Amino acid sequence: MSRPRNVARKVESFPARTPTLPPATHTNSYALGGREVLLVEPATPYDDERRAWLAWARAFPSQGRRAVAIVLTHHHPDHVGGAAFFARELDLPLWAHEKTAALLPDLRVDRLLAEGDEIALDGDTPSVLRVLHTPGHASGHVCLHDAEAGVLVVGDMVASVGTILIPPDDGDMAEYLAQLERLAALSADVALPAHGDPIAEGSGGPSPAALFRHYVAHRLGREAKVAAALGGVGPGGASLAALVPVVYADTPVMVWPIAMLSLEAHLLKLEREGRARRAGDGWAGVAG
Ligand SMILES: [Zn+2]
Repeated sequence: MSRPRNVARKVESFPARTPTLPPATHTNSYALGGREVLLVEPATPYDDERRAWLAWARAFPSQGRRAVAIVLTHHHPDHVGGAAFFARELDLPLWAHEKTAALLPDLRVDRLLAEGDEIALDGDTPSVLRVLHTPGHASGHVCLHDAEAGVLVVGDMVASVGTILIPPDDGDMAEYLAQLERLAALSADVALPAHGDPIAEGSGGPSPAALFRHYVAHRLGREAKVAAALGGVGPGGASLAALVPVVYADTPVMVWPIAMLSLEAHLLKLEREGRARRAGDGWAGVAG
């Protein structure tokens, strides 16, 4: 693939190989801004990819551009594998949400990003990026929204390649769905995910809003299957391992170990809603 790639006005994408969840193999870094540039997703831990990434970032001055900071969308290893390295090599500050910073105690985060923060980038036409705190996939996940350009950097909220895991510990299924609804309401023209191609209507796929709502519908469909499976479970409960083949009968056995984590995230949501309860080492439904 040729790198970098222009994916929106004043936005370049630089996919780099990372240890991410198959079938995805790369994480997209983005450079946002015409003169002052914000770099997002310092992801790759691999030497050869880091060299290519550095060459990309070091070419900015010859193009009249200047990087100002590196933003972490969240703390997962396939998003921060180059964070300390690139910050040091380029002498740039790292910016992240405070929950992301707390989950990366070995990393020096220079600025804590919070919901509603506005990042102004100088250029022929200056741009303003608004920080959206979008927990669910990760507790400190942030998106960046350029409302004027209709561009939304979405990290791991959705993906063009692969699926988004909601880990039961740091993730939160209910939050995730609520944040997808919030992103949909922004009606962005283009959404830029960390994995896979840009999402834009007319490029053969759905609009960003339609895709966000599709994700919500898909998860609620899965949730209905979880609730139905619990209906067939006795008061003694059923284990996650026993529930997975019922709830994920339509998915390859190969993905069941990961599906089990999503299943638990669904069960935790249902528990909070009073629709599931812990029984023994497993889970049971709540009558009524
Ligand atoms: Zn992630």
